[in-house]
Amino acid sequence: MIIKAKKSLGQNFLIDKNILRKIIDFAKIDNNSEVLEIGPGSGNLTDFINQKKPKKIHVIEKDENLVQILKNKFKKNINIINEDILNYTGSSIGSDKLIIIGNLPYNISSQVLVKFIINKNNFKFKKLIFMFQKELADRILAKVNSSNYGRFSILANWKFDIKKVIDVNPNSFLPRPKVMSSLLIFIPKENIIKFKDVKNLEHITNIFFNQRRKKIKKPINFLFKSKLGILKKYNLDLNLRPQNLKPETYYSIVKEYENL
Ligand code: SAH
Repeated sequence: MIIKAKKSLGQNFLIDKNILRKIIDFAKIDNNSEVLEIGPGSGNLTDFINQKKPKKIHVIEKDENLVQILKNKFKKNINIINEDILNYTGSSIGSDKLIIIGNLPYNISSQVLVKFIINKNNFKFKKLIFMFQKELADRILAKVNSSNYGRFSILANWKFDIKKVIDVNPNSFLPRPKVMSSLLIFIPKENIIKFKDVKNLEHITNIFFNQRRKKIKKPINFLFKSKLGILKKYNLDLNLRPQNLKPETYYSIVKEYENL
């Protein structure tokens, strides 16, 4: 069947069976798992998920036309939710067996990831397996002192252990995207640093990385005014740049900021 892809919805369908199989193998889905797929499209990946016979499959797809196609293809086997993932709040499907998987629409992939980091509704899940543009994946994986290091690595590492599974060539998709993609797996950490409000982590990293080439003197003064005890406590040199502070240092700064 020929489906006309909508660019506005980031539709690049995965057509490479080897890659589809690899994604499913790395996801380690078994007949005890529950799966939520984000953006199933015409169901290429869903087919492979279905073959592993998990307990339940839920999919969230925004495009009504594709929802019709999915309904015909899968009949009653799966729970098809016609919604925008960014608005989705239904925590009724959350569970500690839930594997969330998605070849994400690239125009919203960072927002989807941040949604599961902030996790406002306390949605339960076991792991995330997401396909990103390689450029964003590199930023998520970046280590301190590297040029790609910034907000995404700090936010994502707060909550998850992250690994790259594979890089995926544009030829594996239809239509072909312009850039390489990477598949990442995110396992929630057992002990995460607790904040009064996770939004403060977003807020603080925004303030530091809005001017990523400038010294940290400005954001520190802006946030802490005259209360600069943190400089000594964390051994901070105001001549450093935002990319020189470890994720853990940012988490400490957030805690100090929350206690001002
Ligand atoms: N998983 C499929 C399709 C990936 S393309 C495959 O690999 O072949 C991305 C899919 O996400 C498209 O089907 C698109 O319609 C859907 N999508 C785009 N924006 C969305 C949103 N906000 N919420 C849910 N689905 C969305």
